[in-house]
Amino acid sequence: SKVPFITLNNGVRMPQLGFGVWQVPDDEAQVAVRHALDAGYRSIDTAAIYGNEEGTGKALAASGIARDELFVTTKLWNGDQGYDSTLRAFDTSLTKLGLDYVDLYLIHWPLPQTDKYVDTWKAFEKIYSEGRAKAIGLSNFHPAHIQRLLSETSVVPAIDQIELHPQLQQAELRAFNARHDIVTEAWSPLGQGKGLLDNPTLAAIAKKHGKSPAQVVLRWHLDLGNVVIPKSVTPSRIKENIDVFDFELDSEDLSAISALDSGNRLGPDPETFDVV
Ligand code: NAD
Repeated sequence: SKVPFITLNNGVRMPQLGFGVWQVPDDEAQVAVRHALDAGYRSIDTAAIYGNEEGTGKALAASGIARDELFVTTKLWNGDQGYDSTLRAFDTSLTKLGLDYVDLYLIHWPLPQTDKYVDTWKAFEKIYSEGRAKAIGLSNFHPAHIQRLLSETSVVPAIDQIELHPQLQQAELRAFNARHDIVTEAWSPLGQGKGLLDNPTLAAIAKKHGKSPAQVVLRWHLDLGNVVIPKSVTPSRIKENIDVFDFELDSEDLSAISALDSGNRLGPDPETFDVV
C-alpha cells in the first residue's frame, strides 16, 4: 500500500495511517480487521477496554501477514495503573492478542487525580526494555503530565494519542509534542463521522478534488504530520479511508479547514476523566 511511515523517536517505523476498533464488539472486530488488512492497512489500534483484543488477534493470525509487517497498538486501562498491575494487565493483553510483543503500548488516560502515571510509566519502561513493546507512549496526556514523566523517568514517550479533528485542532499540544520529539496521533480523526463530515466547507473541498469529506479530513491530518486511525466497520468506507494518496490539498483548502477549529471536544476532558 501507499501508506507512508513515520519514524518514532526510538527509530521504530509506524504506518502513518492505521485502523481503529473502538466500539466494535469482539466478533465484529475480527471481521472488520480482516477487511482492513485486505484493504492494505497494516496498523491496528485497539485497547484492553475495547474488549476486542482477542478478535483483533484472531484476524491478524488468520491473515498470514508476517508479524514484522504488522503494527499493533494496545492500551492500558485506567483501573490497571500502578507498577505491578500494569505488568499483569500487559501480560493479559498479549495473551488475548495472541502475540509475544506489541509494537506500541499506550497509557490510555493520565488520571492526574490518582497520581499513578509515573509508576505506571516505570512499568512501561520495564516492558520496553524487555522488547515486549517496541515503543511506548501515552494517550490523552497534557503538557504538565508529560513534563512530569520527562523529569522523573528515563524513556521519552514515542507518541501522544489525543482527540484531534478539524473542530479540535490542538495546535498547542501538537507544538508541545513536536518540541519534545513525541509524535501526535489523532483519535476520532473524522470527528466520529456525524456532524463533521456533513460540514459544507468540507463538502465543497471534497467535490473539487473528486473525493469524499472523510478523505479530505484524513488528507489534512497526514499533511499536518499526524498519525491517524480512522474507524469503520463498513467495507466500502474502510477502503475509502485508506484511498487518500492520489490527491493533494492546496493552501486555500488548508486555510478553509483551519477555520473550522471550534474547540468542540467530543470525548472526556483528560484533566477530569477518572472512570476506572
Ligand atoms: P472516527 O473519527 O474514526 O469516526 C468513525 C465513525 O465515522 C464511524 O463509526 C462512522 O460512523 C463514520 N465514518 C467512518 N468512515 C467514514 C466514511 N468514509 N464516510 C462517512 N462516515 C464515515 O471515530 P473513532 O472511532 O472515535 O476514532 C477512531 C479510533 O481512535 C478508535 O476506533 C480508537 O481506535 C481510537 N480512539 C482512541 C481514544 C483514546 O482515548 N485513546 C478515544 C476514542 C477513539
